[in-house]
Amino acid sequence: MKNYIIFGPPGAGKGSQAVILSKKYNLKHISTGDILREEIKNGSKLGLKVKTLLDEGVLVSDEVIMEIIENVIDHSDQYSGFLYDGFPRTLNQLFALDKMLERHRLKIDAVISLVVKEDTLIKRMLRRAEIEGRADDANIDVVKKRIETYRHQTEPLIEYFEKRGNYFPLDGDTTIEHNFREICSIIDSLN
Ligand code: ADP
Repeated sequence: MKNYIIFGPPGAGKGSQAVILSKKYNLKHISTGDILREEIKNGSKLGLKVKTLLDEGVLVSDEVIMEIIENVIDHSDQYSGFLYDGFPRTLNQLFALDKMLERHRLKIDAVISLVVKEDTLIKRMLRRAEIEGRADDANIDVVKKRIETYRHQTEPLIEYFEKRGNYFPLDGDTTIEHNFREICSIIDSLN
């Protein structure tokens, strides 16, 4: 089982890549954001608990996220691996993922990072609000808060990834097709 992380700030294009990559490589696409939005839509207990956090653009607790991840991992035998999208987002989540993979005798095989400048991120999210109707994309203050949350809590992970030698930063300000080809050649070169 392979384990790939697609990394980057909100609006970088992680989800778009994750959908096509998971199809091509038979990976289980694990988007913690999609899972949380589904819980909110269904009005579950968890959904009710996390709704205000997503509306404000702040993070859900590491405990809740790890429970989600463990549950998905335990029910994905038919896949060749996992593609994490929007996870890990804190150092604690990264360390918890390391421990969990160790228990399964697995490791993070690559971290693919989409690097996009801030004004492009904001433009993309506001445009996505019109197409997909995500509440947290429609409000400029929430969009900015999410970028700030990323800078403070998620960006520090890069230093750890770099030390491990499997961190691949890409210019995410090109096209979906171009990034897809680049990521495929990284994954193919590792196999
Ligand atoms: P984006 O990357 O565009 O911000 P996501 O769909 O990944 O969108 O996340 C949306 C929201 O869901 C986040 O702002 C946060 O509140 C919550 N969330 C998603 N993934 C995590 C995570 N790994 N840890 C904590 N909160 C998360």
